[in-house]
Amino acid sequence: MPVATFPLGPLQTNSYLLHQEGQAIAVDVGGDPAPMLTYLADHKLILAAICLTHRHFDHMYGVAKLSSAHGAPVFISRDDDCLAGTEAADGGIWGFPKVTPFTSQAMPSGTVNWGGMECCILQTPGHTPGGVSLYFPAHSLVFTGDALFYRSIGRSDFPGGDLQTLLRSIKENLFTLPADTIAYPGHGPATSIGDERSNNPFCGDFAE
Ligand SMILES: [Zn+2]
Repeated sequence: MPVATFPLGPLQTNSYLLHQEGQAIAVDVGGDPAPMLTYLADHKLILAAICLTHRHFDHMYGVAKLSSAHGAPVFISRDDDCLAGTEAADGGIWGFPKVTPFTSQAMPSGTVNWGGMECCILQTPGHTPGGVSLYFPAHSLVFTGDALFYRSIGRSDFPGGDLQTLLRSIKENLFTLPADTIAYPGHGPATSIGDERSNNPFCGDFAE
């Protein structure tokens, strides 16, 4: 299943399109989605869903535009509703612009089928209270948002963040996936679950 990566917006947030048989899913939209719209048109894809890993401004800048262009539903965890009104969720922090509001639906729990692609919603709070990772078992890939990065982990000092919760999320819900699962994080390069389990200095085998 092809995965196209678009680093978008002021924090170069990885925004993803994965697709199969003419249907696509977007994961986070960090800035102007023009390159994503071009990709969708070039590949003649129907956008089945826009899934957000968590409610932080830099993952949402292009959601309103992409959603209205394709009429695709937006899913985000209701456990991040408590962040509404904070600069980390709405924008404005560090002088960055505000996020254009959009309508959304509750991120489902368990296993969902979007556009014929089966996704397991993994709860990975700690960076935010409602952070999720999106696992596609048939394709051995997981989108980890800002929970797990290549050789790093997400910050836990934003509103609602908690380091111990984040470490537990990673160990119990991400490191239990098969080692060859490719992990696509919210920022930076892709990695694999097995690689991070062995080598991540914050939560891998050699971390304290
Ligand atoms: Zn974040």
